[in-house]
Amino acid sequence: MSDDASETLPSSPITPIKLELEDNFQFSCHKGIGCFNKCCQNIDIQLTPYDILRLKTRLGISAREFLFRYTVPFEMDGHGVPGLKLRTRDETPQCQFLGADGCSVYEDRPTACRYYALGLMSMRKKDSPVDEDSYFVVKEDHCLGHYEPKVQTVAAYRKSQGVDTYDELNREWRQVILKKRSCGPTLGKPSDRSLQLFFLASYDLDGFRDFISTASFSEVYDVDPAEHQQLLNDEVALMRFGFRFLKQSLFGENTIPERPGALEKRLERRRERLRAQETT
Ligand code: SF4
Ligand code: SF4
Repeated sequence: MSDDASETLPSSPITPIKLELEDNFQFSCHKGIGCFNKCCQNIDIQLTPYDILRLKTRLGISAREFLFRYTVPFEMDGHGVPGLKLRTRDETPQCQFLGADGCSVYEDRPTACRYYALGLMSMRKKDSPVDEDSYFVVKEDHCLGHYEPKVQTVAAYRKSQGVDTYDELNREWRQVILKKRSCGPTLGKPSDRSLQLFFLASYDLDGFRDFISTASFSEVYDVDPAEHQQLLNDEVALMRFGFRFLKQSLFGENTIPERPGALEKRLERRRERLRAQETT
């Protein structure tokens, strides 16, 4: 590549070196650093279901209120699969949670904030049942953390930032997204109903709890009463059940037992809905 050509290319903050868990990288972020909070002044943060659960619990508000006040929607792919990003403060690109002393929700900050300055790349080889994760360093001009002397492995950094817990709890959701992407057009365009269910199970945990409390849910799904009660009382269990539910409703995986004849009843209800729509 000529020098002229390289001058016209946009520069990327991503260092093109693939890191594994035991690889070292140099980075440290701390309160006394000259760039403290610079990264929170211009954000683009995608939220995961567990991020939302932690933040809404910390703020003591419902999932719906959190979504309304603190998120903006975006489309994750060309088929309308809904994603959510953290809403910025008023007309600025600044994070709403940034206070004079730094992050006001630090113990419950989202996964993306925990990862920074590492990026994650998940891939699944053809015919492999598991995803393979690798990492890369994101080196932005404003971030002085890369010039601090501390060297650590990716694994040690992940642990220090609490990433392991977040990744473990979001793993099945990430699998749903990856599978949805890798199936591409073979799955066809998702129906409005399946997109609504995706939103409900992924982001609106209170709405999803209401949904599994309905008679029509119990008519279709054969969930053990003790497990059902636990889902109503334990939000992490409910969130994980939601991921199983998505695998079933999006890909037909048999993750939640259905009652005999449930499919026929569901189809009949759908037909009734369509008939009712036609006559109005
Ligand atoms: S949540 Fe906290 S760490 Fe993340 S961008 Fe906002 S202020 Fe910064
Ligand atoms: S070192 Fe980087 S991550 Fe830490 S406050 Fe500065 S800009 Fe943000």
